[in-house]
Amino acid sequence: MEPKASIRGLPVYKPGKPLEEVRREFGLSEVIKLASNENPFGCSPKVWPALGKIKEQFHIYPEGLAPDLREKLAHHLETDPERIIFGNGSDEIIQMIGRAYLELGSESVMADLTFPRYETATRIEGAKPVKVPLKDGVHDLQAMLGAITDQTRIVWICNPNNPTGTIVSYEELSRFLDQVPDHVLVVVDEAYYEYVTDSEYPNTLSLLDYNPQIIVLRTFSKIYGLAAFRVGYGVAHPDVVRELNRVREPFNVSRLAQQAAIAALDDEPFILYCRNQNRLGIKQITEQLDEWNLHYYPPSGNFILLDTTMPADDVYQELLQQGIIVRSGAALGFPSYIRVTVGNEEQNKRFLYAFRKLL
Ligand code: PMP
Repeated sequence: MEPKASIRGLPVYKPGKPLEEVRREFGLSEVIKLASNENPFGCSPKVWPALGKIKEQFHIYPEGLAPDLREKLAHHLETDPERIIFGNGSDEIIQMIGRAYLELGSESVMADLTFPRYETATRIEGAKPVKVPLKDGVHDLQAMLGAITDQTRIVWICNPNNPTGTIVSYEELSRFLDQVPDHVLVVVDEAYYEYVTDSEYPNTLSLLDYNPQIIVLRTFSKIYGLAAFRVGYGVAHPDVVRELNRVREPFNVSRLAQQAAIAALDDEPFILYCRNQNRLGIKQITEQLDEWNLHYYPPSGNFILLDTTMPADDVYQELLQQGIIVRSGAALGFPSYIRVTVGNEEQNKRFLYAFRKLL
């Protein structure tokens, strides 16, 4: 029995190697994972006590529309609750967008290289991914505009881009949005939004107010430190939210996840602390890379794509043996680069120490 043609040969997504697997494989007691852009400071201490409050409701399905979380988040973002949709991670919203807007014969435009789930969501629907090369590691919005055809339904913009960490500015994005034809939905994936400190960064939610063609994706998996719970969200025109709700699984975000996210939103000082620590971590790592004269893309998220000047898979393996999990750029289309999540000070030190041995 053959699967449908559009998914034949689709690579199985391989996320960063799990800590336990590396401990077992290499007989190491201490392993650090800097491979999946998780928050090295965990989540807010307010999350754990909040979970106890719902222990009497573990046997009851969660509310799919997540009304309490929706209200809280709408207030936090200063937007309307009916503009928000939640997913089992923003991964699921990417999939919902594909389900709702793509079909056989349609196209979606994305950067080459960017977050691979856009291509997967496109191919699952039998649609065609159209890839536009990055220019100096940054989305080439003019070329992406040029790639739009009558069949295009979606343009994916990952901002900051994973894996390069680069951003498109407010001016570039708003100029782009002005020119996008009406039959195209623009997805701006801002999974790393809360880490960005660049003043050029677009206030994308304000752009939404006058443009019903955008959906902005964000997540509780990164700076909020709730990756294990799987909760992400999209903010868009209520019409777009209505279409996505048609294809959403009914109980897609667990009760625990909703409760955890509510508690996490109550701890703004924790987020500011993590953002600040991340900035210091970027400085700690990039100063050393500068000293070694190694190229890296200007990081705006919590990860750095750096040129090791060696085959990335070899560097990845050598670091694994020293108990440090990073992401090899080989699978991401950067054969001599590795992508390293910014850890805490000690983890960064250990990474730099281990990496130095390979130079
Ligand atoms: N978008 C981007 C750009 C990402 O890097 C990630 C996580 N790797 C996601 C979406 C998915 O995040 P989640 O499903 O955990 O919300």
